[in-house]
Amino acid sequence: MTAPWIARQTRQLLAQRGHAWLLQGPSGLGQYELALSLVSAWLCEQPTEQGACGHCPSCHAIEVRTHADLAVLMPETQMLELGWPLSEKAQADIDDKKRKPSKDIRVEAMRDLVEFAQRTDARGRGKAVLVFPAERMNTVTANALLKTLEEPAGDVRFALATEASHQLLPTIRSRCQTHTLAWPQQDEAMAWLAGQGMEMPVAQALMRSAGGRPSDVLRQSSAGISPGWWAALPKAMQQGDAAHLSELSPSQAIDALQKLCHDLVLRASGAEPRFFMASQLPACSASVDTLTNWFKRLMQSARTAEHPFNAGLMLEALTNDAQQSLTART
Ligand SMILES: [Zn+2]
Repeated sequence: MTAPWIARQTRQLLAQRGHAWLLQGPSGLGQYELALSLVSAWLCEQPTEQGACGHCPSCHAIEVRTHADLAVLMPETQMLELGWPLSEKAQADIDDKKRKPSKDIRVEAMRDLVEFAQRTDARGRGKAVLVFPAERMNTVTANALLKTLEEPAGDVRFALATEASHQLLPTIRSRCQTHTLAWPQQDEAMAWLAGQGMEMPVAQALMRSAGGRPSDVLRQSSAGISPGWWAALPKAMQQGDAAHLSELSPSQAIDALQKLCHDLVLRASGAEPRFFMASQLPACSASVDTLTNWFKRLMQSARTAEHPFNAGLMLEALTNDAQQSLTART
C-alpha cells in the first residue's frame, strides 16, 4: 500500500517534465518509496496521472524485482534489505565468503549501469535508473553516473533518492531537478501505520522517538525498538547497561543516543524534549557544554559506525561515554 503522502508527491512529480529527479530530505520521509513509485509510473504500460497501474506486466516485473528496463543502484547491504537481487558475480562472491556485502555503491555496479544505459529498452517504455541512497557513491562512481546523466543514451530517466544531498557532487545536483520530500500530516501518518498493523499507542510512542518520520517508525519497529525499550533507554544509559543496546547496530545505537543527548540539551535550556517524554529523562546535572561535547563525540563515532572494528566493543564504548556524560557533575 502506497502511503498517501507518497501518492500525492508522485502525482505532483508526474505532472512536471523531468528526466532526472533528485528526491531529497531527512531520513524516514520515504525517499526510496517515492523513487520506486516514480520509476514504476515511468515504465508502466497503462499509467494514469496518479502513477503506475499496479497490475500490468511491467508493474508486475517491478514487484518481483526482475524488470529488464529498470536498473537499481544501491549498496549491496541495502539491496539485500529491500529484496533486490545482486548481480550473479556479486552474489557468488558473497556466497563463497570472498567478501561481505558492500555498504557503498560499488564501481562494478556502476559499470553495469553504463552498459544498461546504452542498451535498447526491452519493453518499449524507455528505461529507468533508481539510485538510493545516492550519497553512497564515491567519487569514481559519482563521476561515472554524471557521465550517463550528461549524455543519456536513448530514453533513460533517473530517480536519485538521498537523505544527505549535501554529500553529493554539486555537478550531480545541478543535473537533476530537485524535489524536497514533504512531511506527512500527523493523522494520515498514524492511519497509515495502523494500516501496517501497528497498534495505536505503539505508533504514537514510536512517532515521537522517530521525530515524526513514519518510515523511520517502521525501521525502528523492525530493529526491535519498542516504546518500552525506548522509555527505558535513558535510565539504562545512566546505569551503564550496555546490554540494553545489544540488539542494535552501532549506527542505530548512535542515532538513539543522539536523540537522548538532543533532548537533554533542550531540557537544560528550559525547552520541551522532542523524542522522549520529560518523565522518561533521568535527573542529570550535566552542563550544556558537557552534553554538547558528548554530541560531538557521537557525530565522530557515526563516521566510523559503518565499519566498526568490533560492534560489541563499540556499543560498550558508546554506553560508557553515555554514562559518564549523564553522571557528570558540572
Ligand atoms: Zn502498470
